[in-house]
Amino acid sequence: MDVKQYVAKDYKSGLKPVWCPGCGDFGVLNSLYQALAKLQIPTHKIAVVSGIGCSSRLPGYMSTYGFNGIHGRALPVATGVKMANLDTTVIAVGGDGDGFSIGSGHIPHVARKNIDITYIVMNNNIYGLTKGQASPTTPLDTITKTTYYGNMEDPINPVRMMISYNSSFVARAFSGYPKETAAVIAQAIAHKGFSFIEVLSPCPTFNGKDQFTMLKEKTSFIDENHDSSDQVAAFDVANSEDNYKLGIIYHKNRPTYTDLVHNLQKKAKGNKPVPEVIDLLKMYEP
Ligand code: SF4
Repeated sequence: MDVKQYVAKDYKSGLKPVWCPGCGDFGVLNSLYQALAKLQIPTHKIAVVSGIGCSSRLPGYMSTYGFNGIHGRALPVATGVKMANLDTTVIAVGGDGDGFSIGSGHIPHVARKNIDITYIVMNNNIYGLTKGQASPTTPLDTITKTTYYGNMEDPINPVRMMISYNSSFVARAFSGYPKETAAVIAQAIAHKGFSFIEVLSPCPTFNGKDQFTMLKEKTSFIDENHDSSDQVAAFDVANSEDNYKLGIIYHKNRPTYTDLVHNLQKKAKGNKPVPEVIDLLKMYEP
């Protein structure tokens, strides 16, 4: 029997993206198709989950399972999908507003539990879908609809935040380099545990065409001598805000949440008897 060979277009749905011309999210979508083809993951073994925003439209453009959920809740939904379908590759996607503002409370828990999902954040430094308000990653002094005299708030550094939450895989990519972005996405998906990728993805509609040029000038690929298992070195890379380094910044294998549950099940077997509910309730009596 012939085994199907997947190519990038197998992951495309029949829907045409409605993103604005020049939007960086086109590049990310194409890189994701390429990454999945590289890994040869069958379409019925993939679920792509999102919240709300321009980039959160992405599941609709995939021929895989998909769920365009509610604002900021991509990670809890993705966690549920993974826990109920352990042999499915689960990818959460979204923007900087959805992920780092509305959904920020979910990030440390998915990271510390090392849930085996991949989270791709398309960072354009703005709320695009709602027409150009400042987001948690909008640079200082930027004038937007909600920062008329310039943004006075320090932006989040997503890579530094993810390393500090002990995410087991942290990377950065730029939608202007689709081949390299595809390679990083493929490695993130192949990683066992929680993997995070910040993809710098310009919004020409609300940040102007200069954002792409600025990112091209301000990005460079990470030094090949960088030791991605060294957390201090990873923080140094994250702290370099004059030049955004692209590639795998931090990577350290540790047991996933599923591994921990299996270990606990083994430990519990034949050990203490399973308590009766009435005995558990008694623990709460004054
Ligand atoms: Fe892309 Fe910006 Fe248009 Fe949204 S508003 S589709 S982020 S270019």
